[in-house]
Amino acid sequence: MRIFAIGRNYAEHIKELNNERPDEPVIFTKPDTALLRNNAPFYYPDFSKDVHYEGELVLRICKEGKNIEEKFAHKYYDAIGIGVDFTARDLQQKAKDKGLPWDIAKGFNGSAPISDKFIPVSAFGDLKNINFSLQVDGETKQQGNTSLMLFSFDYIILYLSRFFTLKTGDLIFTGTPKGVGPVKVGNVLSAYVEQEKLLEFEVR
Ligand code: MG
Repeated sequence: MRIFAIGRNYAEHIKELNNERPDEPVIFTKPDTALLRNNAPFYYPDFSKDVHYEGELVLRICKEGKNIEEKFAHKYYDAIGIGVDFTARDLQQKAKDKGLPWDIAKGFNGSAPISDKFIPVSAFGDLKNINFSLQVDGETKQQGNTSLMLFSFDYIILYLSRFFTLKTGDLIFTGTPKGVGPVKVGNVLSAYVEQEKLLEFEVR
């Protein structure tokens, strides 16, 4: 199982971090040791002083494939969950300044809490109009809608599968909307797809 992630997929989030709007999806990966399931707590790492939450919809791959055409892409994912792409923003900024890879800023242990429950794709009326949100201590910090994505689910599948063979069980973070911010010890994060809470965990 691999965890892929798309950076800079929502215009308003690109603006808040003063990033450039990409011509193609920005891809990075997290190792499987980043995964947190079962609403397990996230332990604040000692190597960062600025860990940010990024609430994101997560696709689950259901079929192996590479060089997938956009018109067939929908056959390769069968369910959508929600996760937090934790980012050590201070380490990421250092890496960006030097043009170095983001791995330690994005892929550290526990940096990918993901809901246990995934909603079957067939349960959604329109994949281009899915609402999702992230709350910190009960206050809504991020509200996204898939209509605002620069690159659609199907285009993400096309693009990723040019470089990586996708395998059953792989997970793809599809990018965060605006409103990212720091977490601190004691925060409780909860994440919703439409009105349903799929993920809730504590920062320790
Ligand atoms: Mg992200």
